Amino acid sequence: MAAIEMKNIVKQYGDGFPAVNDISIDVEDGEFMILVGPSGCGKSTLLRMIVGLEDITSGDMVIGGKRVNDLAPRDRNLAMVFQNYALYPHLTVYENIAFPLRLAGASNEEVDKKVRDASKTLELDEHLERKPGNLSGGQRQRVAMGRAIVRDAQAFLFDEPLSNLDAKLRGQMRTEIARLQRRLGITTVYVTHDQTEAMTLGDRVAVLKRGILQQLATPRELYTNPVNLFVAGFIGSPPMNFLPATVEGSSVKMPFGTVKIPEDRAKRAQGKGLLIAGIRPEHFEDSAVMEPGKATPGSTFKTKVDVVEWLGNQAFAYSPFEAPAEVQQQLLELERDLDGEALHTQLVISLDSSSRVKEGDEAEIWVDSSKIHLFDPVTGDNLTVDESAAGTIPSDTSTAEVADQQNAIATPGEQEAATET
Ligand code: ATP
Repeated sequence: MAAIEMKNIVKQYGDGFPAVNDISIDVEDGEFMILVGPSGCGKSTLLRMIVGLEDITSGDMVIGGKRVNDLAPRDRNLAMVFQNYALYPHLTVYENIAFPLRLAGASNEEVDKKVRDASKTLELDEHLERKPGNLSGGQRQRVAMGRAIVRDAQAFLFDEPLSNLDAKLRGQMRTEIARLQRRLGITTVYVTHDQTEAMTLGDRVAVLKRGILQQLATPRELYTNPVNLFVAGFIGSPPMNFLPATVEGSSVKMPFGTVKIPEDRAKRAQGKGLLIAGIRPEHFEDSAVMEPGKATPGSTFKTKVDVVEWLGNQAFAYSPFEAPAEVQQQLLELERDLDGEALHTQLVISLDSSSRVKEGDEAEIWVDSSKIHLFDPVTGDNLTVDESAAGTIPSDTSTAEVADQQNAIATPGEQEAATET
């Protein structure tokens, strides 16, 4: 096991485009680190530089205290688990797990002990004599992990390992990976574009956009204190609502009414003109179902609801609003950055399932005003963020000008080549 330090890592492909642009991340020994972001943000490139499949243009990659920039993949002792598992179809589960040990010339006795230990941990004992073709996606995933475990690697590296699985199995495998990583305590770097995986698995999460680190923080910090519009829109489902807003004193004027927010949150927003307010759907409630006392601090307002979706355990109410052109423009850009996640000019309000709000109602809605964020519409910076609690905030994320070039793809066969690093 080892810590992984990435220091000012830059990757420029042949055309000079910085796929990874000055990224510094310290993964602690035993930590579960997530690299997350939309397609083309550079997360796979960064992972491939850790494992040694991509040259590093500049910066230092330090693993276990040793600079590895010039070390071949096989000399880094890292175990990579790929999306397509890269199992050998003609070998049994046992021999697939044993493969790296046989390659390293281990004795039969050592192979047997390690394979059986791994298969016990992964609950694969009854499948050892089967071939991968007869296994479910989840079982194949575990075999691929078994092969990584037997190598006593310094760290596990996962590249979107669950994206081939159906939703149910994905949920199941997610908990299995979390459990296994905690049990083994092995340093792990895990690439995903799925914010649920990022939030549920990571000790810390690095959010990337166009090759630039936006925020590095625990899932809770990312959710409560997103440093900019991008992180705010990326983390949370359904996504945060974004509305036009102006601030006077500690009053925030939004399309549905004016709400007072705590003074310290309003401080940096003074005199900034038109802003974007961000409110998560779950920070609203039907005021009719609020328990007495819970409504403070908070405000209520009336809004016309045009659609209600009742899901059993909760409900969503939708209420359209008007937004000026500049706010719409910023939201369109954000939508593009978020890979097409639609951000309509409508309030999405999460309601308790006992709420009787229905379509066409002029509903009285409560909002937790202490949770309202205010963003600068030009830079996207969160003006209400508690900087002491927001984790690592790279200084120039919002102003960095990065060309948008997302067409190139990794060469086929790279994954094959990398399997037995
Ligand atoms: P995805 O989830 O779609 O795999 P990603 O976040 O992992 O995306 P990368 O694959 O790391 O992104 O790519 C980052 C950027 O680098 C993209 O703009 C991509 O087009 C570019 N890129 C990746 N591989 C190459 C390559 N071999 N040659 C040139 N450009 C590349």
